[in-house]
Amino acid sequence: MARSVILGAGVAGLAAAHYLQRLGDSGPLVAEEKPYPGGLAATMEWRGCRMDLGPHRVHTIYPHAKELIQSLVGDDLVVCRRTSQIFLNGKWMDYPPRVGEMLAKLGPLTGLSILASAIPGKLKGLGARIAKRPPRSYGEYLERRFGHKLRELVFDPFAFKVYREDAEDLDEMVARVRLASQGLFSVLWEALTGRNKSAVKTFLYPGKGMGLISARLAERIRASGGEVLLQHRAARVRHTGGLVRSVELETPKGDRVSVEASRLITTIPLTVLLDLLEPKPPAPIKAAADNLTYADSFLVYTLVNKQPLTPNCWMYFPGQEVIFTRVFELYHFCPALVPEGMSCLCAEIPARPADPVQFVSEEELRERVWEGFKHTGMARGAERVDQVVLKVPRAYPIYRVGYRQELKQVLDYLSGLGNLISTGRHGLFHYNNSDHSLEMGRLAAEYSFQSPEESERWYARRDEFDAYRIVD
Ligand SMILES: Cc1cc2nc3c(=O)[nH]c(=O)nc-3n(C[C@H](O)[C@H](O)[C@H](O)COP(=O)(O)OP(=O)(O)OC[C@H]3O[C@@H](n4cnc5c(N)ncnc54)[C@H](O)[C@@H]3O)c2cc1C
Repeated sequence: MARSVILGAGVAGLAAAHYLQRLGDSGPLVAEEKPYPGGLAATMEWRGCRMDLGPHRVHTIYPHAKELIQSLVGDDLVVCRRTSQIFLNGKWMDYPPRVGEMLAKLGPLTGLSILASAIPGKLKGLGARIAKRPPRSYGEYLERRFGHKLRELVFDPFAFKVYREDAEDLDEMVARVRLASQGLFSVLWEALTGRNKSAVKTFLYPGKGMGLISARLAERIRASGGEVLLQHRAARVRHTGGLVRSVELETPKGDRVSVEASRLITTIPLTVLLDLLEPKPPAPIKAAADNLTYADSFLVYTLVNKQPLTPNCWMYFPGQEVIFTRVFELYHFCPALVPEGMSCLCAEIPARPADPVQFVSEEELRERVWEGFKHTGMARGAERVDQVVLKVPRAYPIYRVGYRQELKQVLDYLSGLGNLISTGRHGLFHYNNSDHSLEMGRLAAEYSFQSPEESERWYARRDEFDAYRIVD
């Protein structure tokens, strides 16, 4: 008998199954290629540490996501005080910045040149606003908001380190999603008044790791009659007459099983999905999907014999002097994540597929991270106990200039498959947080339930998701 099939057991796929069940679907099937649920928001275990794949915190303004998280892990949530710093020009500074400290550490000349360069940027921005000319790129957005000096010092190098693209080649959507603050003057005003709106002061965290949310959600789906099959890779999606008919799954033993599908909600990357379709999409559509590029992330976890090693939940490193962009210390999220008397720090190193770092040995990555800890003074008074490297493929969607047109091409094609709904971070190529993916899973389930054979309006709704913001 045909049933609802969901591809991917990250938070979006699991939320889709859960909300389908709430709508009365008795037996959805979730297929996940990895041996664990959670996707990017999973938690790994190593040497007595429970490690998220990069720093994850719970922060949401969406009532459904709030309610679902509360019902799953409410008793395990701990309140963490957010402390973070930036290592800039060889100096540590609080992040978000305080004006006094910034001027003291960067020197009055740099401080003044930041302010002076912000004024022409602001005037240009004002002129463009009057002429109703939106910024052509992330670079132009930064210029208008912050002026070229702060761009040069912080934003351009950081953007290049994370996305491996010049700010001029990134779509201004990066700013809308990533920079909640309005610009230099509001950053300075917030810094002066101590009323920071762009960064949370406390956040919630499921004490046993972010992966607890997905693990509990998978349990709930199973307890309500659904299936969550791990190590089951989607290997083919067969469609005829504008509808998906079946999905072929590869089992852990390498066999193939075919599942008849009444609807398909998919959260896997669009380019992977297009490869699975049979019949195949036209070549230009596949090429457009392949152009939706990502940065992978190498995560180097270092266990040290000092607890804690730093005063910070996480730290930013825009400069080229160290290989990593951000480091987070698990202890500050919850001391129970690490063994007694020890601490574990995770250093993130984003990399595009052809970047040299992809070809560097794990040994060298470990060494370069430890060297970076020494260079910045973080390693002071501690010895390294052990290190492990994990690679997260497709960690960051890269909003290159032109990506919107390519995404539209792909989604226009997919809207020809009435009972297929693509959603989530990868399914809509949407740089988001996990609460947004929970929402995207819920909305996909509701849409698919109400319009089982008409997906076109779903893709038209994606502008709604553009309102999602990542809060630092
Ligand atoms: C470094 C980092 C830090 C972050 N910090 C935060 C934070 O602080 N707070 C927050 O809320 N969010 C944070 N996020 C974002 C959050 O992790 C994601 O938004 C969310 O987990 C995405 O969920 P998803 O289900 O949409 O996608 P995914 O989690 O990517 O799920 C997709 C799933 O599909 C599976 N899949 C792929 N191909 C196949 C196939 N062929 N067959 C079967 N399964 C397949 C994958 O294995 C994966 O499990 C962070 C992300 C990163 C990378």
